[in-house]
Amino acid sequence: MSHSATSRVQEYIGDPVSDKPPVGRDKLEEIFQDIQDDLRYDHELNGCLNCGICTATCPAAHYYDFSPREIVQLLWTENLEGIYDAMQEKIWSCAQCYTCAARCPFGNSPGGLVMLMRETAIKHGMESAKNVLRPFSRVMLKLISTGNQLSPDMITPDGFADWGPNVAKVDAPLATLRKAIPMPTLHTTKTAWEVNLKTSVELYTIWEETGVLDSLETIDENLFDVILDIMDEKRDDYEDWLDDQDDDD
Ligand code: SF4
Ligand code: SF4
Repeated sequence: MSHSATSRVQEYIGDPVSDKPPVGRDKLEEIFQDIQDDLRYDHELNGCLNCGICTATCPAAHYYDFSPREIVQLLWTENLEGIYDAMQEKIWSCAQCYTCAARCPFGNSPGGLVMLMRETAIKHGMESAKNVLRPFSRVMLKLISTGNQLSPDMITPDGFADWGPNVAKVDAPLATLRKAIPMPTLHTTKTAWEVNLKTSVELYTIWEETGVLDSLETIDENLFDVILDIMDEKRDDYEDWLDDQDDDD
């Protein structure tokens, strides 16, 4: 089915009581094209019976105004306004558990399609993506600066209020406890484990080449600038370390 042949798309989509400018048809088509152009798209979407098995097994559908069947139908019928609407909120409800993919009689992966829509929302700098990802900025900073997503010094009652009473269980002398671990590289609370400079520098190259840093720049320019400084510093440290090795030889 070619979306360019559709005639049901409105010229503009927007909230009549909002100050935000309406989204033009060209933009809707561009967004859908980006989703459809991904190599995974044809693998994740093979057709849809509208049977609802995916929604019946979806934990997110149980708790939120979200239905994987609806998402798949929007894509399958190339409903550009509906796709854009779903990207404003609904797609962020998916838990990415892929129960739907295991059950769909058509071999679709609604969760995989949601992932493509999320990546496209990030690429287009949608507000929904910025809002959802904002709380993860300290995780991103930790990941880039230490190679770890989470370290013991991040586990605090303030940082993990969603753990409820369980967060009290980590209110322990972690610095002392970590020193009791036999491996010296774990004697710190600043990282979960030590990632060496060479690995860090290689990871930076992967993030650059795969577009991770471009996405970050679109979503949070300030965080992007901080992270670039950290990367430059680590790359300099790595060069110095290499020079030291040459001197020793
Ligand atoms: S995606 Fe699969 S399980 Fe879900 S409604 Fe379509 S055919 Fe049924
Ligand atoms: S991957 Fe998302 S859409 Fe699929 S069952 Fe899990 S929560 Fe639902």
